[in-house]
Amino acid sequence: MSVAGTSPAPTTVAPAAHAAAVAELVRQYRALPPGTRVRLGKRTSNLFRFGAPPAHLLDTSGLTGVIGVDPVARTAEVQGMTTYEDLVAATLPHGLMPMVVPQLKTITLGGAVTGLGIESTSFRHGLPHESVREMDVLTADGEVITATPDGEHADLFAGFPNSYGTLGYALRLVIDLLPVAPYVRLEHRPVANRDLTQKITEVCGPDAPDFIDGTVFAPGEQYLTLGTFTDDPGPGPSDYTGRQVFYRSIRERTVDHLTVHDYIWRWDTDWFWCSRALGVQNPVVRSLWPRKYRRSDVYRRIVALDRRTGLSGRVRNLAGKPAEEPVIQDVEIPVERLAEFLDAFHTDIGISPLWLCPLRLRGERSWPLYPMEPDRLYVNVGFWSSAPEVPGCPDAHNRRVEELVGDLGGHKSLYSTVHYGEREFWDRYNGPAYRALKERYDPHGRLPDLFSKVTGSGRA
Ligand SMILES: Cc1cc2nc3c(=O)[nH]c(=O)nc-3n(C[C@H](O)[C@H](O)[C@H](O)COP(=O)(O)OP(=O)(O)OC[C@H]3O[C@@H](n4cnc5c(N)ncnc54)[C@H](O)[C@@H]3O)c2cc1C
Repeated sequence: MSVAGTSPAPTTVAPAAHAAAVAELVRQYRALPPGTRVRLGKRTSNLFRFGAPPAHLLDTSGLTGVIGVDPVARTAEVQGMTTYEDLVAATLPHGLMPMVVPQLKTITLGGAVTGLGIESTSFRHGLPHESVREMDVLTADGEVITATPDGEHADLFAGFPNSYGTLGYALRLVIDLLPVAPYVRLEHRPVANRDLTQKITEVCGPDAPDFIDGTVFAPGEQYLTLGTFTDDPGPGPSDYTGRQVFYRSIRERTVDHLTVHDYIWRWDTDWFWCSRALGVQNPVVRSLWPRKYRRSDVYRRIVALDRRTGLSGRVRNLAGKPAEEPVIQDVEIPVERLAEFLDAFHTDIGISPLWLCPLRLRGERSWPLYPMEPDRLYVNVGFWSSAPEVPGCPDAHNRRVEELVGDLGGHKSLYSTVHYGEREFWDRYNGPAYRALKERYDPHGRLPDLFSKVTGSGRA
């Protein structure tokens, strides 16, 4: 069954062209003098650590396509720097989608596997790396190896997730795909804070729908959104790429229908709700803002420019307003501790809305650099905003989040700022396993280590 989307046709890459692109990247990498700081020369990024030091950019432009989709085996063979937007555009015509599609269109498959990713299928299908069958990696030492769950490089296969490109770069991946229906029926259910744990556990049980996520609008006002594949468009599928804004509809409607394409990208158009800060939800600005620029990567570029110039900070200063601390994080909390986390978060930090997404590892396998227990249900809480700075302590809110996550037995993603001290960091992210991988795949220290990369001194 083919399902139409509205994304542009993806780049299809012949195997010979892929081999040539890999050979060229390897040539570039090996030609660099030892000690040269390198970074992937990708057109987009979803990292929220700004101010990376200058580095030699590796040209990855030949590694951005889909090599093939096998509708019978339900797999796709994909180059490492391919965006999910292109990947989904290649699979939907076959009635298939990746098992977990992170919400932002320009997140790449390699970025999501090395930097983790999550979406509303994660309560059943885990994280993007759990549907990888094999991957070719250019290791830090300059070799191209194929890592599989049980082969000679099974250690790298298991340790690649959450290594953030410090062990090597994914060049080609074979991933499992999921069959889809043309539409998704959504049901938005209000849930009281005290019932959240029980309700989430219940809906993630044996009769679970196809998709589950949630939105917290304010203390005590939250909704779980349950999505089910259907052939029925309902009264006509909704369109949130125009005047309407998806997250607002959650409060206003009980039932909704979207095409599967629009469901997958429902959060990208307004970067969840973050486009609000740029005025894009104001009806006048929205009508003037070209539709093709209502995308998360456009907003991120604007925010990056603002961070570089410090413009909004200066305006706030002139207006006599206090400085703001950006609080942009995704954390995983065991479901039974979720209400405690939210209570403390509302009291101490006070940002809303928040995004909730239940997740459970897909299989029994463990992933050493991001230790989660198999069979345990966690809830990802995402918050992407700012709070008034605590005088004299510019990182106070982010540090409080780290403390809370630790106290409640959770974990924190590493795509944004990290304030742990080195010892605590390695306790949380399995220092011994990481060191063993670094010794095997980066014996000459060509790439920065994970701690220095995510905390600042070796950013890339
Ligand atoms: C506001 C916000 C919301 C987010 N929301 C979500 C969300 O809802 N769901 C979700 O899943 N994720 C989310 N993320 C996190 C995002 O998935 C990760 O940051 C991911 O790593 C980004 O992938 P990218 O392809 O854009 O990588 P980049 O931003 O280009 O790079 C991220 C890191 O991965 C490394 N890397 C990139 N490509 C490769 C590769 N091929 N091989 C090895 N290393 C590589 C880079 O060296 C870099 O260290 C969010 C991030 C932000 C800022």
